[in-house]
Amino acid sequence: MSSIRYRTGLAVLAALSLAFGVSYFRAIGSKCSTQPAKRFEKTVKAMDTFVTVSVSGVDETAATVATDAAFAEVKRLEARLSRFEPDSDISMINSASPGEAVKVSPASFAVLREAARISELSGGAFDVTVGPLVALWRKAGKTGVLPSEEDIDAAREKVSFKNLSLDANSNTVTPLREGIIVDLGAIAKGFVAERAAAVLCRRGISSGFVDAGGDIVFIGSNVDGRPWRTGIEDPRKPGTVADTIYVQSRAVVTSGNYRRFCIIDGKRYSHVIDPRTGRPAVGPAGVTVIARGGATADAWATALSVLGKDGCDAARADGVEFLMYFVKDGEINRLESEGFAAFRKEGSNDGR
Ligand code: AMP
Ligand code: MG
Repeated sequence: MSSIRYRTGLAVLAALSLAFGVSYFRAIGSKCSTQPAKRFEKTVKAMDTFVTVSVSGVDETAATVATDAAFAEVKRLEARLSRFEPDSDISMINSASPGEAVKVSPASFAVLREAARISELSGGAFDVTVGPLVALWRKAGKTGVLPSEEDIDAAREKVSFKNLSLDANSNTVTPLREGIIVDLGAIAKGFVAERAAAVLCRRGISSGFVDAGGDIVFIGSNVDGRPWRTGIEDPRKPGTVADTIYVQSRAVVTSGNYRRFCIIDGKRYSHVIDPRTGRPAVGPAGVTVIARGGATADAWATALSVLGKDGCDAARADGVEFLMYFVKDGEINRLESEGFAAFRKEGSNDGR
């Protein structure tokens, strides 16, 4: 019990974890409650970031049981999805020979299937087989030397979600060529937040959230019945809020080039790669997506970071709402989906 901190409904800070430079969000709990309700909150390091689980509306015992179950789910999924755990599903796929079918857990299959779906819808802008290019640009960031055209072409050759064959009957994944490296960095946090939130729901939690390094899945509304108030970070001044939204029962995910990037020869390069060019994306400075599922929101935030306005129609057709920030000469230009405006007003999104 001692590991859980509790806050009252008057506390303003709901989600934290700005560390590791991967969190773009702060969820700020609704203020003004005549009957302060306790909020139980716990943060654990997982998936190379900090994961916060916050629950309200139950007593401390129920909160502890639910929170522990949610973190057990986080750890379970991390062990399956991590590229760095040698016996994870993803490592098995990455070390398989072409044509070798790898049986994976239902959760890994589900995240890969959602990844394939968004790859298809985004015309390959989102692609979890981007691993060889990520490795190339990570090395460039470390050495300060840009990769050669040949290196980019050689890595790009290995990148295509079409080189992963998924068989839902047998839950198997088969790499179809040599050198495939699956990297779930653009979808795993949202997916894990979604699954951990589902565990909380099954434990009877109707108000709370899971924040996986800034990828947040909100359950219901704040304990006082009002929507969750969430600040979207200003890409020009990380740590400050550019827009505020109000959500209930939604996932909110931001992908941005202003916290994770590298500088080579004085030029800034995004951590998001455009698989079509083999080079860092040159799209918007930040993209925030609101969706029903965390995996979907996470994947679209990355896809739109690559596509910018060219991705609007596909994202809209998939039913997600988005806000993009383009920064030019110190000014923000916003491009948002029609439905996004509803989330700017408190009370207009009823969570359905
Ligand atoms: P996110 O912060 O969710 O946009 O995810 C970025 C991370 O996903 C990067 O650090 C890479 O590991 C990986 N990644 C980079 N570019 C892509 C892409 N176009 N599609 C899928 N994953 C990507
Ligand atoms: Mg993402």
